[in-house]
Amino acid sequence: MLFPTPYRSISMLFLLLPILALAVDNGDPLTYWIDDTCKATGPNGFNESFERTLKDVIHNASRALKRLQFRQDANQNRLLSKIFEIDQSNVDFKKQIEDTFSSLSRMVETQNRASSDVRFYCDEDVVGDGHRWTLVPDDPEDSLPNSKRKRGINQEVEDKLNHMKMAVVHRDPPLEDIATQGVQDGVTRAELFYLHNSDPAPPEENPTRSTVTLGSENFGNAWTDNALSAVSDAEIVARDKPYIFKAMATGLSSFIMMHELLHHDYNRQPRTNDYQVDESWDGLFGLTLDQRRTHPDSYVWFAVCAVLADRQYRFDDAYDLFIKDTSIIVVP
Ligand SMILES: [Zn+2]
Repeated sequence: MLFPTPYRSISMLFLLLPILALAVDNGDPLTYWIDDTCKATGPNGFNESFERTLKDVIHNASRALKRLQFRQDANQNRLLSKIFEIDQSNVDFKKQIEDTFSSLSRMVETQNRASSDVRFYCDEDVVGDGHRWTLVPDDPEDSLPNSKRKRGINQEVEDKLNHMKMAVVHRDPPLEDIATQGVQDGVTRAELFYLHNSDPAPPEENPTRSTVTLGSENFGNAWTDNALSAVSDAEIVARDKPYIFKAMATGLSSFIMMHELLHHDYNRQPRTNDYQVDESWDGLFGLTLDQRRTHPDSYVWFAVCAVLADRQYRFDDAYDLFIKDTSIIVVP
């Protein structure tokens, strides 16, 4: 069953695939390309929201990296151990977290779509002629032609420009097949697509490319104007924990964008997966350790806490709240 969640990646459809543990050292900066739909102006356009969100992701990732590299930071070391159950001795996994934040913090825009790692779209994943996504043509050998199948169930949809398909997963035992509809399903707010059963692509295409669709809902009524920096001090401490934690996870567009970018294939494993919990902080601790280490929100929350630490706030287990703590070292 596909549980509705505000945002997710198609990777959640592959939970049963074995996760390979390859220790590849790679902190290369991510390259991204932005479709014009994310630059549209006007009342329904993304205006500067997209840009602000992207800038916040880069900032948050760079602050997470700084805190990771700053060994004397007891506050962030506690979080490292709480979220990922690692301490300074788990150097390999810590390096992997560092590489991830390093890739994100040094993201660079490119005008070359084909070579880019990630391509951003704000086109609502509309399917049909003249749109990026179109139906896969009928195959005369199919007993049930694709055009007669059901959207969201077993109909195949492709993005011919990026040489991608939306995923359709055939399940065993054969209940109904399940297919993603991107942000078209009415509950998903953003989605990352990566290669799934796609036809061969031209050689100039990046072999580990992804596309990220950001639904307009993320930008139209964002809780904090898209950026964590816009969350006021009063909001950090005055609200109860469920409020602030839930609001960030579902109302902050940079939280959502970073989540999606963490699904990208960074050429090292294990790859991230969604584990069908809500996006809350508490939800993380209902996961097994292996799940938590491969869940995007573990990384996003780590970054959120790093940014709040810059403002000398930390999560306090005893009070179950963010509290002001002037003993937190301000890392330049
Ligand atoms: Zn996800």
